[in-house]
Amino acid sequence: MSYSIAIDGPAGAGKSTIAKTIAKKLNFIYVDTGAMYRAIGLYFLRLGITDEAVIEERCKEASVSIQYEDGEQQVILNNENVNGYIRTEEAGKMASAVAKLKAVRSQLVELQRELAKTSNVIMDGRDIGTFVLPNADMKIYLTASSKVRADRRYQELILKGEKCDLLQIEEDIIARDKQDMNREFAPLRQADDAILVDSSEMSKDEVVEKIISLYNNVGKDGSFCGN
Ligand code: C5P
Repeated sequence: MSYSIAIDGPAGAGKSTIAKTIAKKLNFIYVDTGAMYRAIGLYFLRLGITDEAVIEERCKEASVSIQYEDGEQQVILNNENVNGYIRTEEAGKMASAVAKLKAVRSQLVELQRELAKTSNVIMDGRDIGTFVLPNADMKIYLTASSKVRADRRYQELILKGEKCDLLQIEEDIIARDKQDMNREFAPLRQADDAILVDSSEMSKDEVVEKIISLYNNVGKDGSFCGN
């Protein structure tokens, strides 16, 4: 039987950094589901298509799969490794736009569930605990204030040498949260049986430590999530 940890939360809460570190420590596979939505977003961004009906009709053309290289998830879009193209703000916005659509979600949810069937996974996204893996062994809802999330993103971009505006970043984050929380299918929300971790005043190491200790104390033996 495989074990699954679901980590959901809003944009920029640090889910992927935290999940990646925990996956290494527990020897689990890390599945970044946002990267899959970004890949489909990229496909339509490249085609210049924004019409929702057309995207629903044509999303099957964007075949997405994942592979692992040195433990790092690689997203393959129609035989092309697109990891180097999906991390832009533009791809993030487009991911959120295509993620509203039922046809896109159904296509990716299938792949996500398959991965969790065969391996111990820590999977992060927006709807993992509520929809993709409702029976996940352990569920975390990781959040932080929009100001803290914007500030972290700003520091990251500055380190990369990119020009950016802190207020604009915060506005974009708030807009993306709003879109993700208010869509009709599988909106972002905390699952009833998820543990809330607010990282606004915690370091990355403190968050990792907290989740690992939850896993060791209540998660491992299945006494979490009302089991
Ligand atoms: O997590 P990340 O910022 O890479 O996700 C990009 C977008 O993909 C999110 O804003 C959200 O709209 C969408 N997404 C989703 N469900 C998931 C993961 C991501 O709708 N499980």
